[in-house]
Amino acid sequence: MLFTNIIGQGEIKSKLIQTVRDQRISHAQLFLGDEGFGSLALAVAYAMYISCEERGESDSCGKCSSCRKYGKLEHPDLHFVLPVAKTKGMDKEPVSDDFISLWREIFLESPYLKPYQWYEKLGVENKQGAINKNESLEIVQKLSLKTFESDYKVMIVWRPEKMNLTAANKLLKILEEPYPNTLFILVTEDTSQMLPTVVSRTQIVRIPPVDSESMADAIKKELGISGNEKIDGIVHLSEGNYLKALSVIKEDEQNEFFFNHFVNFMRICYAADIAALASWVDEMSALGREKQKQFLKYATRMIRENFMLNLKAKDIIYLSAQEKEFSSRFSRFVNTGNVLPIADEINKASVHIEKNAYGKIVLFDMGLKMARLLKS
Ligand SMILES: [Zn+2]
Repeated sequence: MLFTNIIGQGEIKSKLIQTVRDQRISHAQLFLGDEGFGSLALAVAYAMYISCEERGESDSCGKCSSCRKYGKLEHPDLHFVLPVAKTKGMDKEPVSDDFISLWREIFLESPYLKPYQWYEKLGVENKQGAINKNESLEIVQKLSLKTFESDYKVMIVWRPEKMNLTAANKLLKILEEPYPNTLFILVTEDTSQMLPTVVSRTQIVRIPPVDSESMADAIKKELGISGNEKIDGIVHLSEGNYLKALSVIKEDEQNEFFFNHFVNFMRICYAADIAALASWVDEMSALGREKQKQFLKYATRMIRENFMLNLKAKDIIYLSAQEKEFSSRFSRFVNTGNVLPIADEINKASVHIEKNAYGKIVLFDMGLKMARLLKS
């Protein structure tokens, strides 16, 4: 993980680099900030920089033997402590190293990640991960070894609040009597669940939200999204959080999907084209119940917004650019005479689908009624 690959955070990067140049690396640091700001990624990049054999002014070299190992998270002096849970067939309390290859995979693929994504990867979605007593024994054992290749042994503890009391107390003891050439980087979003005595033993490095310019750049370059207005919208909603930006984009894509279906559906109904309605119903029913319900929710919103538009209630209309464009032509078909029955039909369809009624019949029936209502 090079510093360059982390979005924004110029100030934090310089501060971290300065600690290495001045040789005043605190032995226990707590990176405090949302994962979407890059807190975990920064911890790994910092460790890599400390260990690099050909450090540059502003980043690791990326080529030396240490960097190459770091690039795969396989450096023998880099250790991770992670919340884990028993997976199927395990008969003892697991430790992080049991899952280290999965960890390397997920981190290298998406260095901005939340614990639930990690638990999904482990296949233990329904359980909460924890850092248990076995893990703390493992930490002590690792610390007692000499460093293999670097000046420093680095232990990155992701989500220290997941430590149970025994493990947290053990960590406290270690931090009180630091081992030589050992660096602990604790990464968390929230210290309120941690032992206050552990927190007070660390130097806190606050990771702020990503600045707007860097976020816009990342959305454009990393995610290939174009259109300044669209990018600005995502940046605004992301609040400096890359993970939030990703979820806004995903939601946008879903809206786009529903929008296309809605436009298609309304055209078919207006034309009262029964054959087209039948094939639209086929397509919809292949999506599954949950998606159908989401679509109907979307349709309800569009009907409401179009009615408002028809009433010229401009200041309470929430439409995207393409929705606005379509609605400027469509809104005249949604009026005081049919808005309630239309909304009622959509709602009924949703309730029927919820109750496991046969989706195809429900949607087809709704289409026929809609065809009649749009003409009134
Ligand atoms: Zn290097």
